[in-house]
Amino acid sequence: VLSLGRAESAVATTCAYCGVGCTFKAEMKGEQVIRMVPYRDGHANHGHACVKGRFAYGYATHADRITKPMIRSKITDPWREVSWDEAINYAAAEFKRIQAQYGRDSVGGITSSRCTNEETFLVQKLVRAAFGNNNVDTCARVCHSPTGYGLKNTIGESAGTQEFDSVMHADVIMLIGANPTEGHPVFASQMKRRLRQGAKLIVVDPRQIKLVRTPHIEADYHLQLRPGTNVALMNSIAHVIVTEGLAHGEYITDRCETQSWEKWKAFVSDPKNSPEAMEAVTGVPAMAVRAAAKLYGSAANGAIYYGLGVTEHSQGTTMVMAIANLAMATGNLGRIGVGVNPLRGQNNVQGSCDMGSFPHEFSGYRHVSDDAVRATFESEWGVQLQSEPGLRIPNMFEAALDGSFRAVYVQGEDIAQSDPNTTHVTAALSAMECVVVQDLFLNETAKFAHVFFPGSSFLEKNGTFTNAERRIGRVRKVMQPLGGLEDWEATVRFSNALGYPMSYTHPSQIMDEIAALTPTFTGVSYEKLDKLGSIQWPCNEAAPDGTPTMHIGQFVRGKGKFFVTDYVPTREKTTSRFPLLLTTGRILTQYNVGAQTRRTHNVVWHDEDRLEIHPHDADVRGILEGDWVGIASRAGETVLRAQVTDRVQPGVVYTTFHFPESGANVVTTDNSDWATNCPEYKVTAVQVVKVNQP
Ligand code: SF4
Repeated sequence: VLSLGRAESAVATTCAYCGVGCTFKAEMKGEQVIRMVPYRDGHANHGHACVKGRFAYGYATHADRITKPMIRSKITDPWREVSWDEAINYAAAEFKRIQAQYGRDSVGGITSSRCTNEETFLVQKLVRAAFGNNNVDTCARVCHSPTGYGLKNTIGESAGTQEFDSVMHADVIMLIGANPTEGHPVFASQMKRRLRQGAKLIVVDPRQIKLVRTPHIEADYHLQLRPGTNVALMNSIAHVIVTEGLAHGEYITDRCETQSWEKWKAFVSDPKNSPEAMEAVTGVPAMAVRAAAKLYGSAANGAIYYGLGVTEHSQGTTMVMAIANLAMATGNLGRIGVGVNPLRGQNNVQGSCDMGSFPHEFSGYRHVSDDAVRATFESEWGVQLQSEPGLRIPNMFEAALDGSFRAVYVQGEDIAQSDPNTTHVTAALSAMECVVVQDLFLNETAKFAHVFFPGSSFLEKNGTFTNAERRIGRVRKVMQPLGGLEDWEATVRFSNALGYPMSYTHPSQIMDEIAALTPTFTGVSYEKLDKLGSIQWPCNEAAPDGTPTMHIGQFVRGKGKFFVTDYVPTREKTTSRFPLLLTTGRILTQYNVGAQTRRTHNVVWHDEDRLEIHPHDADVRGILEGDWVGIASRAGETVLRAQVTDRVQPGVVYTTFHFPESGANVVTTDNSDWATNCPEYKVTAVQVVKVNQP
């Protein structure tokens, strides 16, 4: 029971923005939210909140909301408002026609990390059971898919190892490619509290983020590397750890595979990986690398936190493995205060991965080729399932362009704006015969859609999100869905229209099915979530109330496995035509492609994306603060206004990607991670020139 204050009613729910997953009390008057109050008992936020969760909820009732289902037979036709039945039957008929004409694998689905676990689970079930293939992917493909692959292979579980509170026991914090004061503000405040208590900080980032120097906090080391050289830098840190006797021999002997350790030790010990040898590659002075490595290697508790600056590279997975190698070598896994902690960008990135919305994995990260696992799902779902992995998002685009992939159901994701190389993505969408978009707004992807299902915001539905610390939190409905259906209800009706019956009446039943089919969720139920407030998976017989710290005693995979992480330079080279490297990031008041925050008062603080450029690079181009500049890459070109600042190093430019007008992804390329196809958003060779106002 929540205290009401001035409100008529109040409901505890979870923020729909970043992966911190703050709990709020939504205070209501009638059906109107009058305040979002950070909840004191929220396990992830302890009563704190940021400017997004606290104030940026007005998008839910914004005039741009589309509340009626719509269809059109050609994307050049005007939309026609129809009933839910007509929209769903039209979409189902089109998907059936396309599969009859082009084959079972000609259709697929894309889920969103902004949707609930239950919605995501249903979309992958729809694809596997109703479409009959494994062509399902999630937008986590373009952010943290390397985390899943890298951590699964090294330590056995595709998730962060700690709870947020663990940072209060860290002595040395290494922050790699993450900018928590902008992207994960409430966790950043907690980290700052620990830093003010005396913990040491190493920042690895091409740009001077706020935590490098902020009131009362100064990073001990800022390793300001060149974009794209993460792995080279990490190998040189590992070189120092191993050659200076800072590896934890007893821990390695007890907990890691000996053969893999010996191989990795020989690899990183090679002088070619020394900080001196790598200095020319990374641009980071060897002395600073040596000192930072010694600081981390000799810490009583060394904790690593990382973000998309690690994963969104052609060697994203290699870098995740390099991080895990380093933590294992120094014994910094398996207790409070240490660990390897991916900071997830969106509210439910962790959950969308956990729920099996990858083309190769069922929920709980079990491969579709595993006969026993597949048999369990077949028995529960009453269908035969495919054992071959399906198409990833970029493969769907390629298949659309070669004519073999003809229809897609996109729930809550704006692929036309958020995926790299916009020209390529929109060409693929244009080539499809039926694009179904389920969203709050007519987003960029909807321009290529034939069917529009009105989506429901987090205020209009029940469900759960899983945050970056594996914490499952309840999302509770505070108002009726403006479009008449919660997202999961539309999926259920779509499936029924396709001929595969689904009969849930409440998302708690979907969670019960998830729990029955997913070993890490065995003990999770809405009843238990209501009782405990939240649960960190794994939650099962061995850990009935959940697991704040993973890998205690032994790794989930048994022995930890070291991987040799050769540095391979990105294909994205600077040339005289493209002499600068563009990298991207976020700003506190806006969120991802801005579909939500742009429709709130947060635009008062940030109403356009700007290009940060170093004074030297600006000077030689005659660019002044606020000038319009053209950015051209091998993929495309766009126009932004310039911000001249030494936060970026010479040779590097930086922008955010919250506004469609800025078109940041028009210039990003098709380069992607070797293991997961996560796009290399963080490194694009560009030229920048002063232009007239567009
Ligand atoms: Fe918390 Fe993140 Fe929401 Fe801010 S955006 S209130 S930090 S969950």
